[in-house]
Amino acid sequence: METKKAWVDFNLIKASVTMEMLIIQYGITSLARNDDEMRGVCPIHQGKSKREFSINLIKNTFYCFAPLCKARGNVLDFVARMEHCTVKDAALKLDEWFNVTGNEMGESDTLSTVDPQPSRADSVVTLIEEIETHLAALKQLVAAR
Ligand SMILES: [Zn+2]
Repeated sequence: METKKAWVDFNLIKASVTMEMLIIQYGITSLARNDDEMRGVCPIHQGKSKREFSINLIKNTFYCFAPLCKARGNVLDFVARMEHCTVKDAALKLDEWFNVTGNEMGESDTLSTVDPQPSRADSVVTLIEEIETHLAALKQLVAAR
């Protein structure tokens, strides 16, 4: 399984984010609700038919009946289609938008503890300056001959 590689738990995102939340997020108002289904203009290919796009609120999935589109899937697929990004990027966006994984923002902390060591950069600059000084001296020597 490649779940370890994924930075965000796809299943957690899918369990936490509903299609309804995404409709609100995108400000989609063209969908009409009928029990556990929502129907309307497909926000992905933006067709004209008000019947071709369907959301199943129980399964938390969507489906577009338009032959040219046929978009379908879960919340991750929906965002991936809307944002023209990968499913993984969609998961990261959803995590950001809805704060799915909570306050586990340890990333920036660990980054700050991994100091880029400015002293080392300084010493490199000093070294280059020294070399340049030596080179200049050598050139003067050569020119003097
Ligand atoms: Zn569509």
